Amino acid sequence: MAPHSHPSRRTIVELLGDGISAELSTSVHAVAEALAPRLERPLEFLPVDLSQPSRERHGEKLYDQAEGLMREHRASLKYPTATTAESPNKILRDRLDFAVIHRPVVTIPSIATNFTQSIDIDIVRIGTGGTYEDSGRRLGHDVAVSLRVIERVPSTHAARFAFELARQRRASVVSASKYTIQRETDGLFEECCERVKIDFPDVPHRRELFDSMLAGIIMNPERYQVIVTPNEYGDFLSDMCCGLVGSIALGDSASYAFDPHSGAVVAAMFDPAGGTAPDIAGRDKANPFAAFLALSNLLRFVGESEGQGLLRRAVFQCLAAGEKTDDIGGGLSTRDFTAAVCRRIA
Ligand code: ATP
Repeated sequence: MAPHSHPSRRTIVELLGDGISAELSTSVHAVAEALAPRLERPLEFLPVDLSQPSRERHGEKLYDQAEGLMREHRASLKYPTATTAESPNKILRDRLDFAVIHRPVVTIPSIATNFTQSIDIDIVRIGTGGTYEDSGRRLGHDVAVSLRVIERVPSTHAARFAFELARQRRASVVSASKYTIQRETDGLFEECCERVKIDFPDVPHRRELFDSMLAGIIMNPERYQVIVTPNEYGDFLSDMCCGLVGSIALGDSASYAFDPHSGAVVAAMFDPAGGTAPDIAGRDKANPFAAFLALSNLLRFVGESEGQGLLRRAVFQCLAAGEKTDDIGGGLSTRDFTAAVCRRIA
């Protein structure tokens, strides 16, 4: 922990939340220690308490502290927070100006699905604009309009992120939008993708119309690895793909903020998709699977690819072997599942 800060360790800011957050954090610490011998720089966690009581006590100062540490250390792990009068997720998003959201969706062993094929898709979406920043207005009684915004800078960040990820995965990029109809807005997005593509001659790229791509994913999922798309399309696509793998709560996501001049990542936040689950908090029942995936994605970001692969394999092997928590039909407690993952890492 922070007071024993050691220079050979890599500091990860840990944004603690409500409900099952504390148990998820304990599990993450356990697997991080199991991974330590295999990491170039083992992790140490610097906690910031974003739980509701702490937010009520400290107000804006707490967010100032969180923002400062997230920028200073670049990588942070966030656990579920209760949305009350305020949404901590929205506040962090606005303060840090996250321009890109990355949602990996992969078939999970032993989870029942209606969809029979496997998918392994990284959805990269512009984190701002689209139709989400204007709630619209009425023009008289029978008409309403809203503004849809596509900007060059976040489009370029998203495209660059997607191409870099595809290069790491030795995979292809599909940029998806409605560029034949939304010629100016989606045309600008595709233009940004084409520009970025010039720097990645080794990465195959094609563009697809978003609607036909949805059918394509369902009919030929193996043709899709990294998809980059505007904000609202990415939102829809993420949930559809989660539905294909049988769970919205078992995934993770990451948000990235960039330096406007250099394009370098100035802050990255990784989080499990699920909520605070107050009904099971403190009962050793929380499933830390998504928190482990978030940690694994964080390891990739900080360049610990061996550790990332090791953790991912350990978690998926556990599930394939039926070692899993109650919520997904196994008999293990949070602690026992965590111990099973640690054993496989070792
Ligand atoms: P929030 O308001 O934070 O979204 P919620 O309880 O309304 O909280 P979820 O947290 O998404 O919504 O929980 C929905 C259901 O799924 C609950 O019954 C909860 O116990 C269960 N659940 C959610 N996350 C987990 C998890 N990580 N492990 C086990 N069960 C979970």
